[in-house]
Amino acid sequence: MSERAKYVPTVKEQDLLDTVENPRYDRQIINGLNPFFEDRAPDDMKGFYSSDEMAALLTIRGTDRDVESRMPVKITRHYFELARNSKSLQRLVKASPDETLDLQGAEDPGYQMDYSPVEGLLHKYEMGLMYVISTCSAHCRFCYREELIARKEVERQDGTVAKKGLAQIGEVTDYIRAHNEIVVANGGIHPESGREKLREILLSGGDPMVLPNSKIAAWFAALAEAGVESIRLGTKEMAFYPDRFDDAFLSMIDGFHDAYPDVGFRLMVHFNHPDEFLEKGADGEYLSNANGTLKWVDATKQAMDRVVSRGWISVENQTPIIKGINDDPNALRVMQRALKRVGVENHYFFCGRDIIAYKAFNVPIETAWNILNESQKGLSGVENHARLSITHYKGKTEVAAVTNEPIPGVPESEHGVVIFKILRNAAAAPDRGKVCIVGRNPEALWFDDYADRVIYDEAGLFDYSRVEKSRAEVPVTIGAVGD
Ligand code: SF4
Repeated sequence: MSERAKYVPTVKEQDLLDTVENPRYDRQIINGLNPFFEDRAPDDMKGFYSSDEMAALLTIRGTDRDVESRMPVKITRHYFELARNSKSLQRLVKASPDETLDLQGAEDPGYQMDYSPVEGLLHKYEMGLMYVISTCSAHCRFCYREELIARKEVERQDGTVAKKGLAQIGEVTDYIRAHNEIVVANGGIHPESGREKLREILLSGGDPMVLPNSKIAAWFAALAEAGVESIRLGTKEMAFYPDRFDDAFLSMIDGFHDAYPDVGFRLMVHFNHPDEFLEKGADGEYLSNANGTLKWVDATKQAMDRVVSRGWISVENQTPIIKGINDDPNALRVMQRALKRVGVENHYFFCGRDIIAYKAFNVPIETAWNILNESQKGLSGVENHARLSITHYKGKTEVAAVTNEPIPGVPESEHGVVIFKILRNAAAAPDRGKVCIVGRNPEALWFDDYADRVIYDEAGLFDYSRVEKSRAEVPVTIGAVGD
């Protein structure tokens, strides 16, 4: 597509859009490190960085190790209030020179751009993921979209280099309609890619909740008109600025549900640590309600109740396990239990991706599995649904088990094994359920670290000629840059 398609809403879409309100939100965001360096931050925030921390950050400013060029720094007032009493949250949001000690990592982790048929859209499985915005209310230092947020240039499969563009309604809905028409005409499967109907779309970024309600509504209505069956919205706003889930937003969502009652809506929230939503006392301990359950921060509880009480919105939490932030079984146990109690499903925990500087944030794969496993001891069956997932180029893969004992007679299993299981393939789903067993390597941060100890690989995770072949088989047409 050489020119950006101009999207014209239908009368039904326009009727919905005419009801939407766009309040102005005062998140009191502090952008960048300059307010701290130049003593312009509000008085009560000035000590957020110690003088030693500021001096260390100043020393590397403007060099290859500049932390702000790797990932812009941003914080809301709400998150600052939570973080001032939480070392974990400080680590999540405060820049540190440690981030750029080792800049190893991939510009485009998982070769995401290979799956982009239209600028700003990744088409994997029966799902599409869209980049609709390139910022969030605050920024996580470990962000696995740092190349998008920092507007870095990324090499695509055809060798061209450009910043990742944002999705445009016209281009994306044209693609969905065209793909689905071919699928229907071919008996339910796309003849080239083997994919089914594109039925579920995730609005992502960045954080779509930074957009005005009218823009979110425009996306939702256009996707519904294009035949999408379910819409997801990925957001960390429940942690950064829960007041965003106000009456104006809920009324927009209600209006959408009234107009398109058959289209599902899933809110994919992102809590990394219970300090992001539980109330703490002066002693740093969580406060309890009269019945012994843990007390939520009022603003977050009100926001969550507004969403969950709709009944037709499913709310799911997913989070990476990050060094120094939530690599703590006790914190994760508290979080899974507290979320499930208010109606939030614990969906995935992720191993960190091999982004630039991943060594500063990722915990070893086996450690992550042990942390999650420990955290789920003592949880009820409905509280411990979450799995540990790692995103291989071939698709979403579960770290299913880590054992300690050797398997008699099996070389490379002397210290136990790790069992990976393919959950989804990025194109069709022929390998769902297939496993790969490798000898343990407690230091392994990524698949490459197991390449010399593969025991059994029906999943083909280490068959790189196969991976290369599947790259070649994915049809790719890069559309016009759209931001
Ligand atoms: S909220 Fe998500 S996209 Fe935004 S900075 Fe954090 S990890 Fe990145």
